Order: sequence, then C-alpha cells, then structure tokens
Amino acid sequence: MTARLLIVGPQGSGKGTQGVRIAEALGIPAVSTGDIFRANIKGGTELGEKVKAITAAGNLVPDELTGEVVRDRLEQADAAQGFLLDGYPRNAGQAADLDAYLAGKGQALDAVILLEVPREESIARITQRAAEQGRSDDTEEVVAKRLAIYESETAPIVGTYAERGILDRIDGVGSLDEITSRIRAALAARGIAAV
Ligand code: AMP
Repeated sequence: MTARLLIVGPQGSGKGTQGVRIAEALGIPAVSTGDIFRANIKGGTELGEKVKAITAAGNLVPDELTGEVVRDRLEQADAAQGFLLDGYPRNAGQAADLDAYLAGKGQALDAVILLEVPREESIARITQRAAEQGRSDDTEEVVAKRLAIYESETAPIVGTYAERGILDRIDGVGSLDEITSRIRAALAARGIAAV
C-alpha cells in the first residue's frame, strides 16, 4: 500500500501533532516544512540563514526554495512508499508545483485531511503553545499574520482537492485520541490503513 497524504489546517489546528500520529500509524514519514526550516535555523545551516528572518516575521519562504526542500526530502528512500506532508503546499503555486512533481513520477496525492477548528480555538491553542515552547513566530502580531496568510493563500487550495474527491474534512475539536480516530476512519474508508 502506498499513502501520499497531506494534512491542512490553520495554525493551532493540531495538524502537526495529528500528522505525526497518523504517519506513525501508517509507517510513513511525516514531512513538515516548518520543522525542516526550524531544524535548519537551529543548526545554523545555509538554508537556515536564508529563511530565519522570513519565518520569524511570519511570511512565506519563496516557493522555489520551499519546493526544492520538499523535493529533496521526498526523494529520500523512506518516502518511496508514501509520506504525509504538513505545511506544504501552502498556496496555489506550491500546489501546482507538487502536482507536477508527483505527476512526473506517475504519482498523485491519495487523500487530503482538512482539520477544521474555530478561529478562537486555534488562537487559544497557539497562545498555549507560545507559553510552552516559546516559538519566535508565536507572538500575537506574527500569529495574526500567519492566520491571515492561511485564510488568503492556503484555504483556497483546499477547494481543488475537494473537486478531485480526495478531501476529508475532519472536526478538529476534541481529545487528541478522538481526532486521530476520526482521521484514521476517514482514511480507512479510502482503503488507506496500516497493514
Ligand atoms: P509552520 O510550522 O508550518 O507554521 O511553518 C513555520 C514557518 O515556516 C511559516 O510561517 C513560514 O514562514 C515557513 N513555512 C513553512 N512551510 C512553508 C511553505 N510551504 N511555504 C512557505 N513558507 C513555509
């Protein structure tokens, strides 16, 4: 079985946490562009230096650079049988880049999970995460910008996945286990399940 998945949702929807849980259950790597950028910033790499100021301001890293990072990651052996993307694609250009890249390999996304949470709930969760983890881009001003970019650039790409019939809308309010179960049930209904 292959499973090429994407998890989408606003900041604070819990997509990072759920993405890791689902990927683990299916035996595929969770690929988070945000995590890759943060690791590079922490490690002081050339990529980290390039994206440091951009991510700290809550802006999007240029599509070309982000696409390169994602393609490099997806070429690694552990992603041959599938992957779960978290945080990419984030706009129409990136979505088209991903489609073209996968099509070139005779592949396509199998399912897209949209985690839906009310705005107040996602803001409350980010505020809590800011207190716990101290992420430099979790300040009120930067969070507002990231949410605005989600609404204007990321949310619109979801419609194209719905048209393709690969979108699963999941209620993201509940306990971690409840939400994981909802996602796993939706994927199982598509024949995507751990063997
Ligand atoms: P995240 O953890 O997914 O919220 O990502 C943290 C930050 O990394 C974002 O606010 C952006 O600055 C950058 N980033 C992550 N993914 C992307 C992407 N697909 N395109 C552009 N920038 C991204």
